[in-house]
Parts: sequence; C-alpha cells; structure tokens
Amino acid sequence: MGKLDGRVVLITGAARGQGEQEARLFAAEGARVVLADVLDEPGEALAKELGHTYVHLDVSQEVDWIAAVAAAKERFGKIDGLVNNAGILRFNELVATPLEEFQLITQVNQVGTFLGIRNVAPEIEAAGGGTIVNTASYTAMTGMAGVGAYAASKHAILGLTRVAALELAARRIRVNAICPGAVDTPMSNPDGVDPAAVAELYGKLVPLGRVGQPEEIAKLALFLSCEDSSYITGQPVVIDGGWLAGVSLF
Ligand code: NAD
Repeated sequence: MGKLDGRVVLITGAARGQGEQEARLFAAEGARVVLADVLDEPGEALAKELGHTYVHLDVSQEVDWIAAVAAAKERFGKIDGLVNNAGILRFNELVATPLEEFQLITQVNQVGTFLGIRNVAPEIEAAGGGTIVNTASYTAMTGMAGVGAYAASKHAILGLTRVAALELAARRIRVNAICPGAVDTPMSNPDGVDPAAVAELYGKLVPLGRVGQPEEIAKLALFLSCEDSSYITGQPVVIDGGWLAGVSLF
C-alpha cells in the first residue's frame, strides 16, 4: 500500500530540484503525478521515466493553469492534490532591486501560488477533498539580507496558506506550507560555486552542520499530502536543520 494510492497530484517546478524528488517519491507512493514546469525537455524526460504525465505550465500565467488542469483531468479524470513548488530567486539589496525584478519574483512565487490555489482547489473539492502544499521558505519566517523580493514573496505565501486553509477546510481541503532552509539544488548554488565552499558555509551556519537534501524536503511534502497529517492545516512547517532556532556563540 502506498501513502498516495488513488491520488492524482499536480507538482509545479517538477523538472529538477525539490520538485523532481517530490515527483519521484509521490509516484513511488502510488500517486498519479502531473509534472509541470517551464523546462520542457527534462520535465518530459522525467515524466517518461516515471510513466506519468508532463505539462508545460508557467505558474505565473493563468492561461497555462487552465490548460494544465484540463490536461490532467483528461489523462487521470480528476486532481486531488497540488504541490505549489515552482519558484525563482534573485540576489539583490532592496535599494538596488529593479522594479521589474521585484515584480517578476512576485509574479512567479506569489501570484503563481495564488493561481494554483484558485484553479486547482475547485477540482480538489469536486474530487471529494484533498491537499495543497505551498512551498515557502526559511525566509518566510525571518529576514535575510540580499533576498528582499524573494523573502517578501515567501512571507506572502504563508498568508495565502493560512487564508486558504480557513476558506477551504469546509471543502475538505487541507492547505499547509513547507519552509525549507538551505537545500542542495541549482537554486541554492546558481553560479556553480565550489560545492566544498557551500558545504563549509552551511556547516557553520546550520546547527545540524550541513545543507539539506531535496529528498528530505520531498518527505515533508509527502507527509503533508497524505493521511499521516490528517489533522494539520494552515501551518508553516520549517525544515532547516535547526537554522531558525537561533544563533550560537560557540
Ligand atoms: P530549482 O531552481 O532547482 O527548481 C525550481 C523549479 O521551478 C525549476 O524546475 C524551474 O524550471 C521551475 N520554475 C521556475 N519558474 C517557473 C515558472 N514560472 N513556472 C513553472 N516552473 C517554474 O530550485 P528548488 O530548490 O528545487 O526550489 C523549489 C522550491 O523551493 C522553490 O519555490 C524555492 O523558492 C523553494 N526553496 C528552495 C530553497 C533552496 O535552498 N533550494 C530553500 C527554500 C525554499
């Protein structure tokens, strides 16, 4: 028995990183997975490997959401799970951030999550209920210099999560958010910095002494998407190796 037997789950940003590991784990747990991304080649290759479905979905575009929902229903007949995972990050001080960059990050991370909830929640309700997992961040819970637009969008995702949980509970839809710290994906090392330097940095910053792995984030997304979390909704769940716990003098 898989933890997601009979479920149909749409995962955004599923071509690589955390979304890829979520797609792999959800498929292994019995879900039929709709992998969505703007990176069509790796997304299609992964869907083919898993025997599931790929859709091109730019989460910032409502027309893409409408087409993706239609494609998922045509292939699997319903959708009863959503993982809003797609996101982008840019490094800049606030006073140096161009308006276009702030708006792009907002459009993908915040508006993309809103559009996912708006377009998929009615389908989950029609399927008899289910789950939505939004991907926030450590930077949804605290500040981090150099990522102001990103942190603002991730704080907003927590607001969306709480309101959606309140509004959708009566429709048998649970809505939670995951708040990862530093995770070993292309996003956290965009310029191909020496992995040894990254390991050394997080070895010092993070109490558990290492960067997180995308497979570990996927396990939390699974927990929040299956019956093991049946009495949890509206919550941000931090997964950061203890980074948010505080600072150490030693
Ligand atoms: P990643 O860059 O490896 O993967 C992100 C995926 O989202 C990519 O496949 C990308 O093509 C896709 N994507 C980007 N824009 C999109 C769009 N407009 N429409 C659809 N897909 C789009 O990064 P990741 O670490 O796997 O990030 C996954 C999520 O986790 C993101 O929301 C990110 O903000 C969040 N997060 C990451 C970290 C980290 O340290 N890596 C920490 C906290 C939160």
